[in-house]
Amino acid sequence: MPISPQLGQDAAAANMADIKPRYTPQEALIEANRCLFCFDAPCIQACPTGIDIPSFIKKIATGNPTGAARTILSANILGASCARVCPTSVLCEGACVVLDREGDPVKIGRLQRYATDHVAERKVSVLKTPAKKTGRRIAIIGGGPAGLGCAAELTQLGHSAVVFEKQPQAGGLNTYGIAYYKMPPQVSLEEVAMIRQLGVEFRCGIEVGKDIAVAQLEKEFDAVFIGIGLAGSPRLGIAGEELPEVMQALDFIAQIHTRPLHEVPVGRRVAVIGGGNTAIDAVTQARRLGAQDAAIVYRRAQADMSAYDFEQELAKRDGARFLFNVVPVEILGSDGHVTGLKLARAEKVGGKLKPVPGTEFVEPFDMILKAIGEQKQAGWLKQMFPALELDARGVVVRDVDTGQTNLPKVFAGGDCANGGREVVNAVAEGKKAARGIHAFLDGHKVSGPVQPSRLGVKDGAPVGSGFDRPIRVPELEKEYFAQVK
Ligand SMILES: Cc1cc2nc3c(=O)[nH]c(=O)nc-3n(C[C@H](O)[C@H](O)[C@H](O)COP(=O)(O)OP(=O)(O)OC[C@H]3O[C@@H](n4cnc5c(N)ncnc54)[C@H](O)[C@@H]3O)c2cc1C
Ligand code: SF4
Repeated sequence: MPISPQLGQDAAAANMADIKPRYTPQEALIEANRCLFCFDAPCIQACPTGIDIPSFIKKIATGNPTGAARTILSANILGASCARVCPTSVLCEGACVVLDREGDPVKIGRLQRYATDHVAERKVSVLKTPAKKTGRRIAIIGGGPAGLGCAAELTQLGHSAVVFEKQPQAGGLNTYGIAYYKMPPQVSLEEVAMIRQLGVEFRCGIEVGKDIAVAQLEKEFDAVFIGIGLAGSPRLGIAGEELPEVMQALDFIAQIHTRPLHEVPVGRRVAVIGGGNTAIDAVTQARRLGAQDAAIVYRRAQADMSAYDFEQELAKRDGARFLFNVVPVEILGSDGHVTGLKLARAEKVGGKLKPVPGTEFVEPFDMILKAIGEQKQAGWLKQMFPALELDARGVVVRDVDTGQTNLPKVFAGGDCANGGREVVNAVAEGKKAARGIHAFLDGHKVSGPVQPSRLGVKDGAPVGSGFDRPIRVPELEKEYFAQVK
């Protein structure tokens, strides 16, 4: 049978509601006052964008959420989405001193959300761009977190940034891929609107390589930033894969972001093949959209799953099943529709996992989602930039501090350059590349360990969003102050 939506409007909306609702002012105040405001705060080091966390929390504690948002957004232009999607337990909150003392960290992500929501809802703009422009133009390929981080920083440095995005909307996976109950797409679209207001130009619906040639970008722009992310999962290579209810987990999630929730077709019994965070997001959302049975099908053991523990826990709480050490052998169908999945026990043969003959069994499913890892975009990159250096995995080789590739005018960052990490890594890499481009074009370096908001440094960075890494290690501070004297 073809699949169809399982829930009505109210039930679908209730199931997909925010799993971490925003703090009330009272809750934010109580939580902010748990912070010890450490001088050499380890949480700052643990945040890839180096947000001055104690400083923004102090501002919340003293009734200044607008100031808090300024501190956040000046270091991380996607502070609102990162507040919702960052795996904080392995980043800032994992490094929090209060975690060691009380077993429960300060909820940095939720406080960050409180402050960024405050300015977003009131349409308060807290960032400035220089009145005098440099006249330099930079083409950004891809409007995901990396491209947005790069474009926003370039604009704050006085350059003109033009984002080319093949989808109808910018935001990348923030707009089309994040689990809905963590962040609905509107949050990402509001961030895009804020970046547009800073002066970034967006050309959406334009695919570079198809609608505009790379040669034209290289001719018309002073530098090019590549932030194209990754592609979908590879094929399973088994019989039945062409049936209509077999799809990429990413396409299923994209439907949740582009259709009313109660109109998204979902199976009654859904199998999700894979063991990463995408698989977990897919199985959880399938359950929340009304699948009676939704199972992770993974070829290794639970301990080998790359999905974060807290994500696995959420899926279990939502009633997902887990089938470990099994490989799909065939997708079964009847009348042109999926009816089940033939599985076999997996065993390592010559270093590779293979189905063990005679162990096959059938599980009844009517929808199969593939989440077996996103592919690198090596084919596109080689075709568009034949001289660009890629590593053995097919990701762009670049200087990690400046984002510069072996082609001097070409910079890169985000998933296509780091192989696939988190939103906060992509935005941080985009920002670093913007500074790399700034140094390449004008010979000016924007650097320094202390954010302007710390230590009374009122006139820290003259332009741009503060500094790379606000390290408060005393020797580095001494070095910094010697440098700015
Ligand atoms: C299902 C899923 C869930 C995730 N959940 C989380 C999470 O909860 N928390 C978290 O921190 N991270 C999460 N991530 C990871 C995170 O989304 C990525 O690390 C991040 O989006 C990478 O940003 P990016 O800009 O490098 O790439 P992308 O977000 O992929 O953006 C790349 C953009 O480039 C565009 N593009 C590609 N080719 C072209 C072209 N030729 N011309 C024009 N435009 C082009 C694409 O359309 C896209 O908009 C998740 C990833 C997936 C797949
Ligand atoms: S951006 Fe992410 S890692 Fe950095 S402070 Fe905010 S929630 Fe933590």
